[in-house]
Amino acid sequence: MSPQFALIYSSRFAHYSYGEHHPFKVDRYRLTYELMEHCGLVASPQVLQVECPDADEKNLLSFHRPDYLKTLAAFSADDEVHANFFYGLGDVENPVFRGLYDWARLMCGGTLEAARQVCDQGMRAAFNMAGGWHHAHAARASGFSYLNDSVVAINHLLDQGKRVVYVDLDAHHGDGVQEAFYTTDQVMTISIHENGKDFYPYSGFVDEVGEGAGYGYSINLPLVPHSDDLIFEQALQRIVLPLIEAFRPDVLLTQLGADFMRTDPLTRLEGTTSFMEYAARQFLATGIPWVAVGGGGYDRLNVARAWTLLWAVMTGQEAPDKLPPSFLPVIETLGEKITWLRDAPHLASPDDFSRAQQHLDKTCSYLERQIFPLFHLRAGGR
Ligand SMILES: [Zn+2]
Repeated sequence: MSPQFALIYSSRFAHYSYGEHHPFKVDRYRLTYELMEHCGLVASPQVLQVECPDADEKNLLSFHRPDYLKTLAAFSADDEVHANFFYGLGDVENPVFRGLYDWARLMCGGTLEAARQVCDQGMRAAFNMAGGWHHAHAARASGFSYLNDSVVAINHLLDQGKRVVYVDLDAHHGDGVQEAFYTTDQVMTISIHENGKDFYPYSGFVDEVGEGAGYGYSINLPLVPHSDDLIFEQALQRIVLPLIEAFRPDVLLTQLGADFMRTDPLTRLEGTTSFMEYAARQFLATGIPWVAVGGGGYDRLNVARAWTLLWAVMTGQEAPDKLPPSFLPVIETLGEKITWLRDAPHLASPDDFSRAQQHLDKTCSYLERQIFPLFHLRAGGR
């Protein structure tokens, strides 16, 4: 059997650091890969492992400004202290470190490679866990993101005449990707996230629906804090899946940040691994060639567990409920103690749930009124 699923990875993912006190820890990638291996999910004849390449500057220039790339390259070259707040570089959030440009090009190269595996090599699906830097703008770093891998990969797909739906499940709004495609009808961006009223990046409101030719092609589902799996699943069923079906893209690109999980230290949503598996099953069932990328997630074991389960669903392999015993010593060395792969079911408190449901109903009604008619869709009926 020839491989149908590409796993993009490199041991180089672990060669960089945002600094000891930064919430983003690069060792989440090594941990995820090792957990996949310990679960027996990598060495399958269906799986093609691909060494993650660096993105070419030519591809980066499809979105990023040359002056910004030049600055990134210059700041990256030595250990001197560098900052340029115009470009969002060198603050606590987006630190400058030696090799920064190589790091960002590697992350970006992985998503481009995943897109090529699906588009040119005929893979059913491909996963770049090191992608998902959805806050990067054309000439500004933001939210730990320096280069916007999804935008660069989607531009590559557009060059080949493909139409794309981008779905973003990260707890934060996918603002950089939305902005890049706000005026086109060739890409639909859909983001489910914690309400930006008092939460970074303070955007992603339901009435941000695109402009000009792009009117109706930017979709936002802001959720109130404490929204749980039941709310996420409804958002997918009521809005996201009908729109994917109506738009009928050539490629589906999903950003699967694991910071929607209830134990994430930076966010207030209450999702579990169950929603990651649910969403992955739904994306697979569309039958559309699928590029998946990682994203946020500031509890490294959440990240490793969520993306291992995602990978199992994507490739049609079984995953156990508990962490394999052989993996326990790995996490003990990190000072962690958990034993489960799948989270126990979790429901928000009744008060929180009813608030979240009311807010979701309002959001869905708005989108059903404003957006569904553009695609000849009716509420509750696909
Ligand atoms: Zn996030």
